[in-house]
Amino acid sequence: MPRNRQIKLRCPICKKPTKATDPDFPFCSDRCRLIDLGKWASGGYVISSPVADAEEAVPDTEDSQ
Ligand SMILES: [Zn+2]
Repeated sequence: MPRNRQIKLRCPICKKPTKATDPDFPFCSDRCRLIDLGKWASGGYVISSPVADAEEAVPDTEDSQ
């Protein structure tokens, strides 16, 4: 009996078995892929969120005249 070397892959969202040949791999479907995307989008994985510098640049008052 040949050894079954196939690794069982599961969708990280719904835990359904999925295949590496799936177009939506590692997800079982487009739906699960979108769910994962939404998790990332709302998970605080925001890289560039520049804080608006509300402070006004204090002008130099060096010339005392
Ligand atoms: Zn799924």
